[in-house]
Amino acid sequence: MIRPDLLLKPTPKGLYCPPGDFYIDPVRGAVDRAVVTHGHADHARAGHAHVLATPETLAIMASRYGEGFAGATQPLEYGETVEINGVTVWLSPAGHVLGSAQVVVEWKGLRMVCTGDYKRRRDPTCRAFEPVPGTHVFISEATFGLPVFRHPDSDREIAKLLASVRASPDRTHLVGVYALGKAQRVIKLLREAGYHETLYIHGALEKLCRLYEEHGIDLGPLETATLDTSERGAQERFRGQIVLGPPASFHDRWGRRFPDPLPCFASGWMGVRQRAKQSGVELPLIISDHADWDELTDTVREVDPEELWITHGREDALVRWAELEGRKARPLRLVGYEEDAFE
Ligand SMILES: [Zn+2]
Ligand SMILES: [Zn+2]
Repeated sequence: MIRPDLLLKPTPKGLYCPPGDFYIDPVRGAVDRAVVTHGHADHARAGHAHVLATPETLAIMASRYGEGFAGATQPLEYGETVEINGVTVWLSPAGHVLGSAQVVVEWKGLRMVCTGDYKRRRDPTCRAFEPVPGTHVFISEATFGLPVFRHPDSDREIAKLLASVRASPDRTHLVGVYALGKAQRVIKLLREAGYHETLYIHGALEKLCRLYEEHGIDLGPLETATLDTSERGAQERFRGQIVLGPPASFHDRWGRRFPDPLPCFASGWMGVRQRAKQSGVELPLIISDHADWDELTDTVREVDPEELWITHGREDALVRWAELEGRKARPLRLVGYEEDAFE
């Protein structure tokens, strides 16, 4: 078997494939050829000459950056293969957000799989993670790669939110959610829990919610929460309602106009009590689009690679765990992915 770092190696620009001459999720500057795992802005940057990704990820990038975000784009459906300079590339669902994919790279009998960001929990807004059999080298993210990170059941967190809405009918529940993935997942989970009233969204969520709907994910009645101050008492109608927006928007003028707001935040980081406190969140909702410690370690056992490479996040704890399990593991020390910003 050839040495894995002949096929993929960490570089300052990201994970690079020398024989294929392409990068996976390049983080620094424009490259000639990029394979993109998913649409979060730290993984999917604009300006590359050529981008290969799932059709959904390409649609997300076009919606964020405009149609001309790359010189050329090449959509690749899950499971379809393509040859890039003699290297076989295909994509397997990662269960992170709509269109998210693990990148499978094969060359001279060696199969390497780069997860991008992933999770194993049920998510009604995207295809579930599919482990790739026969993986020699598994390159896993490690955003929540510490044993203290154990995310609770998402349905239970949604039930907490609905209980709070019932208990405080005079307040506006402002739910902080990231625009891609988390917003649509929280909305869909609310629908599944039986909440069918209009949900109010910040304008920054509009485009991506529409894109999800165009991809067949029904989000129910949504309305953009615009506060028309010319109409007296206009904001009164938000009492008892749920309003979703990017976390930062709740601190600006838009967020402060809602009557008696009750700040909530849906994030895996809400499992860290200190963080919830510091951010002024009254109702933390631990809902994550990343694998927690159990999901990470269970996935490594399930994929059972010959070698484990670990990237962005808590690399060292996972390396130590793998070594104790008798596994060969290596931290990649790639920089440029933002562990907080898009969780
Ligand atoms: Zn992501
Ligand atoms: Zn990431």
